[in-house]
Amino acid sequence: RAKESGRGVYRFFKREMDDSIRERRNLARDLRQGIADGELVVHYQPLARAADGEVCGFEALVRWKHPTRGMIPPLDFITVAEENGLIGALGDWVLRRACADAAAWEKPLRIAVNLSPIQLHDPDLPSLVHEVLITSGLSPSRLELEITESALFKDYQRALDNLRRLKALGVRIAMDDFGTGFSSLSTLQSFPFDKIKIDKSFVENIHRHDRATVIVRAVLGLGRSLEIPVVAEGVETEEQILFLRGEQCAELQGYAIGRPAPVDALTAWTVAGASTIAEPDVGSARKV
Ligand code: C2E
Ligand code: MG
Ligand code: MG
Ligand code: MG
Repeated sequence: RAKESGRGVYRFFKREMDDSIRERRNLARDLRQGIADGELVVHYQPLARAADGEVCGFEALVRWKHPTRGMIPPLDFITVAEENGLIGALGDWVLRRACADAAAWEKPLRIAVNLSPIQLHDPDLPSLVHEVLITSGLSPSRLELEITESALFKDYQRALDNLRRLKALGVRIAMDDFGTGFSSLSTLQSFPFDKIKIDKSFVENIHRHDRATVIVRAVLGLGRSLEIPVVAEGVETEEQILFLRGEQCAELQGYAIGRPAPVDALTAWTVAGASTIAEPDVGSARKV
């Protein structure tokens, strides 16, 4: 009996697994088609200088407008893209879109683009970035590439080599989700990052957990000592803004500054003189 019911359970899980494999395969097929059909969109989230609340740049965040499933967030399809050889095409498209959009802004604000570990290990990445900069006409100093420390793991030497070649182009490199990986400090030691982004899991606990507050303060101190500007991600409250400003955090990003929005919703921030406009038109955005 036990054996029989065991087999039933097995069959049940087998079916579940087959379903989820089929589901992922369908998603990969849809994504391949979707990239070709122009279903990807890039939304932009503002970053503000902590000292005066001035918007100084945007992060490009990809979304997928699926014809039947609606808007799909990146964490639900980036892995699918990575596992199915689609991340190159996807990343290439996001980079081109973001650089072309930013090049059209009147204000020379910075544009940050996320890179997948797979892209970072591609020996053709620096020449791709170089070509996109030339095609878009975007000044290299306005482009910032965000990588997570886990991105360096696979082939450390090759990844570092790519980062050096990218920096030689005049592009800036930011360490994303700082503090969530296994070797944040040794990564910082190995490479001169231009920016550190403290992960939102720490920022959201400022004043809620003593330890998180201490960690955020320590990372800000580390950034000051290394002379690397620190950005706080996931800033949602006035209290967090005041704390981070008081601790001389360089830049703030999060719903309290502005939510990610389509490019045509950004005009108040991206045209000349926009800083004098009182009410930017992006979601819940406002000056801090
Ligand atoms: P990330 O690079 O750390 O981006 C920040 C994420 O935090 C975004 O989620 C953003 O919408 C969200 N966020 C911003 N402010 C707040 C806040 O105040 N509270 C909370 N709870 N969340 C906030 P999103 O857009 O869903 O992207 C998730 C991740 O997907 C990104 O994390 C990035 O790792 C990845 N990603 C996004 N676009 C791309 C891309 O074009 N290429 C690659 N390789 N990865 C991407
Ligand atoms: Mg990022
Ligand atoms: Mg992040
Ligand atoms: Mg993240």
